[in-house]
Amino acid sequence: MKTRFLSIVMAGMALLAACSQPASKQAPENGTQVKVIFDNAKPRTMPLDLFGEVPEAIVSELGIAQGVPASVSVMLVNRAGKNILFDAGNGNKDSQLMGKLAEAGVKPEAVDYIFITHLHGDHIGGLVKDGQRVFSQAKLYIPATELEAWTNREGGAPQNVATLVKAYEGSLVAFTYTDALPCDIKALPAHGHTPGHTIYQLDKQLIVGDIMHGVALQQVHPEYCARYDMNPEQAIESRKKVLELAKTQGLSLYGMHFPSTEAWVIK
Ligand SMILES: [Zn+2]
Repeated sequence: MKTRFLSIVMAGMALLAACSQPASKQAPENGTQVKVIFDNAKPRTMPLDLFGEVPEAIVSELGIAQGVPASVSVMLVNRAGKNILFDAGNGNKDSQLMGKLAEAGVKPEAVDYIFITHLHGDHIGGLVKDGQRVFSQAKLYIPATELEAWTNREGGAPQNVATLVKAYEGSLVAFTYTDALPCDIKALPAHGHTPGHTIYQLDKQLIVGDIMHGVALQQVHPEYCARYDMNPEQAIESRKKVLELAKTQGLSLYGMHFPSTEAWVIK
């Protein structure tokens, strides 16, 4: 009896020791690590005229006369043992996503969850190939507001959205902002770029989709919209809110058109 008691105490002590390992052995300070995958094969720049008329003084101060550095990116996260993608890139012939996932040791069938920021082609193109789903085991999370906006519009859903919905039938979750999402991921509305454009928070990190197409310009001048913003006024409001949130809470940003694979910190 005494021996048994002792072994329970020792097991408890071992557990305590495991929980009090030095910080370096635990998760990074920022929580889950976000890996940015450039889907574009060649360097990408957003042309300056995409943002309307930007005064010469701003252009020269920011050094963006040749355009604003950008990318087409996908985020890969491993959280609670699950492989999670945020968006899926273009799905073009020269798209880099599949090759880079393989390099990272993640097979398409090993992707557990995919969260979509919005339904533009450069974010969902990589989900379907020849009408078939690319990620055979993944649950696909799409904000309900976004899905409804595209599927209920006059004339019906665009072809790529209709194909996507069919390909992922039975694995598609249209969620609202009050739903609990897997792996403690928080979805926040950031509408304007599209009717249901959504960003995702993981601890101190924010995956911000298309809240900024030219971050060098828009992080200091959020009032400039890319032509792609469907509701410019709402997009500006959302952009300002996200920038404020990042500043006040010290959050790192990851954007689908940011030119860097590193966390972006707003100063
Ligand atoms: Zn985009």
